[in-house]
Amino acid sequence: MEEKIQSIRNRAVSACRNVTNIQELQEVRVEFLGKKGELTALLRGMGQLSAKERPKVGQLVNELRNELEEVFRLREGVISQSAQAVKLAAETIDISLPGRKSAPGTYHPLTLALQEIKSVFISMGYQVVEGPEIETDYYNFEALNVPPDHPARDMQDTFYLSEQLLLRSQTSPVQIRTMEQQPAPVRIIAPGRVYRSDADVTHSPMFHQVEGLLVDRGITFADLKGTLQLFAEKMFGEGTQTRFRPSYFPFTEPSAEVDVSCIICRGSGCRVCSQTGWLEILGSGMVDPRVLTKVGYDPDQVSGFAFGMGIDRIAMLKYGISDIRLLFENDLRFLQQF
Ligand SMILES: [Zn+2]
Repeated sequence: MEEKIQSIRNRAVSACRNVTNIQELQEVRVEFLGKKGELTALLRGMGQLSAKERPKVGQLVNELRNELEEVFRLREGVISQSAQAVKLAAETIDISLPGRKSAPGTYHPLTLALQEIKSVFISMGYQVVEGPEIETDYYNFEALNVPPDHPARDMQDTFYLSEQLLLRSQTSPVQIRTMEQQPAPVRIIAPGRVYRSDADVTHSPMFHQVEGLLVDRGITFADLKGTLQLFAEKMFGEGTQTRFRPSYFPFTEPSAEVDVSCIICRGSGCRVCSQTGWLEILGSGMVDPRVLTKVGYDPDQVSGFAFGMGIDRIAMLKYGISDIRLLFENDLRFLQQF
């Protein structure tokens, strides 16, 4: 009988050691201590023992029950502790790690350059106006003093959509559209996309221009020079010089290319300005009287000036970008620098 008790004890203890969770432990407890468990069966069988043996065996069984209760209780403590430890380990947060930053968006360099150009001219009283990117041949060429057989049409490789419709090759049509809709004085800038069939490191088939137009009584070339000098200083910093070189555009007379003193070397000569100390940034001139006549203005009463510049070129100069294609590739490594 004592051997049987000893055997139950050994099996119960070893089974208890092997369980890894509370549910298994409960099953083992029922197997040995439950109503139908081995220990209970042993007590039921005591009726067959002699009166002399009965108290002794009863005591041994009670001792074993107490011992196993204690063993199970300890095992339960160990299991729940290790389960807690596993749970804690899984939920560990390394508070020494840097936080995860949310990345705020940044403005595209073209947007930045345009915002600055706009704010300079708005401060001088100019309005910002826009026009369609699909233009008629009339607004893009003819009204700007470029008749069908004019050689100036060869200066631009234009994307024609049909005989009469094209992707505008310049923002100048907005001048015409604005003057048609209102009498002088006119004081506008017109930013937007323009298209020419051209592509290399400094040319993109789609690029951005800002057109400027001022028409009023008594406007002279001196007003044009003063306006663009002020723009150059505000855009590229105080002390920036401007230089006007005679040029030709069909819709202005006289016309001038405008250079600014190199913003990299401040005029002493470098690779960016090809050692000249100057950078060409825009074209300009006095509005041709024929253009004024076409929109119903009287050239004897009013005069004006116009200018146009590439926003892409301004942004490239300002931010030191050497390849225009970088502006349109949408590479975040490039864009995040601004
Ligand atoms: Zn330079």
